[in-house]
Amino acid sequence: MTTPMRIELAEFEQDDPGARGEAHGELWRSQIHELCAIRGELLLRHDGFTSASQIDELAARHLPVLAAEAPALALELAGIARGAGVTLAQLVVLNHYTDLRELPAALRDEAVPIDRLRSDDPGGCTAVYLPGAARGPVLGQTWDTHGSAWPYVRLLRIRPRSGDEEVLCFTLTGCLGLMGVAASGLAITTNNLFTTDGRIGLLSSAVVRTLLVEPSAATARVRLARMPLGGGHNFMLADGRDFFGIECSARLQVLMQSGAGAAHLHTDHCFDPVLRQRERVPASSTSFRRMELATTLYVQQRPRDAAGLWALLASHEGHPRSLCSHGGEASGDAAASRTCGVMVMNLVGGEVLAGAGCAQANPPRQLGFTRWRGLEENIR
Ligand SMILES: [Zn+2]
Repeated sequence: MTTPMRIELAEFEQDDPGARGEAHGELWRSQIHELCAIRGELLLRHDGFTSASQIDELAARHLPVLAAEAPALALELAGIARGAGVTLAQLVVLNHYTDLRELPAALRDEAVPIDRLRSDDPGGCTAVYLPGAARGPVLGQTWDTHGSAWPYVRLLRIRPRSGDEEVLCFTLTGCLGLMGVAASGLAITTNNLFTTDGRIGLLSSAVVRTLLVEPSAATARVRLARMPLGGGHNFMLADGRDFFGIECSARLQVLMQSGAGAAHLHTDHCFDPVLRQRERVPASSTSFRRMELATTLYVQQRPRDAAGLWALLASHEGHPRSLCSHGGEASGDAAASRTCGVMVMNLVGGEVLAGAGCAQANPPRQLGFTRWRGLEENIR
């Protein structure tokens, strides 16, 4: 194998969201062009869209929702487009790829089975909330998508010069954020769910960033309930005091767990019986298998801290359909899902472990906050 890879971190201190976006776009200009092309082509090839112009048109319809719901993020996205020299519709595809895949069937009111996907795994993630560990609760997940995405995985630190905000996000070049933790102590993970009521909604990356502005898990949960989501996601919201596990389709949100005292594990299928009625998990999905693996490994390994949770998520038990997933490597199918990175967040103290690519081949990078206001170890 190749030498271990260290996930790249970029820090943005601009107060102006447009200027922040421009710096982001300029920094990763060529990678953003490449990823826009990859994701546009994957949508066209695999997901029932009829033409590139149809994708552009559907993508552009998300922009008014973004401007209304998250005006600062709309400016940041516009800045990224300017800096990178891509269109806003291309950036919507880059940011909202998973949700867009649910759109054709819903918008055309015809059944386009998600199983049209030729890949051996349509994507997903494994997320774990670990309570009462040695140094306080920990939240983490693998981030699994088409294998061609892993070279574009990055970390963002957003710390505007004015004020006391600071956010660490796991993301892709050109993307506002996929999961993360804020100086307030609030951390968020998201899994994809294969629900069938997708609609034009708020970009999933903007959902993550908008929630991270909230002061606590409890207020983030209230904010989430008011958001016009575009597709199915499971959210874990935690701040060391509270934990909420919420399964969402675009139009229905169900609270599955409330309370920080018990562990919570989730993959990419709904646990809620009502949501299951609006769900279509592709036969090729490894979601049920990963849930079994995660549950078994949790009992066997009894992880107690961030390093323990990293080891669990990095497991190759059952390789290649393991928690650290290596789907498509044998067949060379770049569209097959694999683990493109992992992030584990300490809810006490705020230290983060993050990496790109295989979580065993690439040891995690450790990062901390300079403006942490969440729980501290010495005052617990
Ligand atoms: Zn691996």
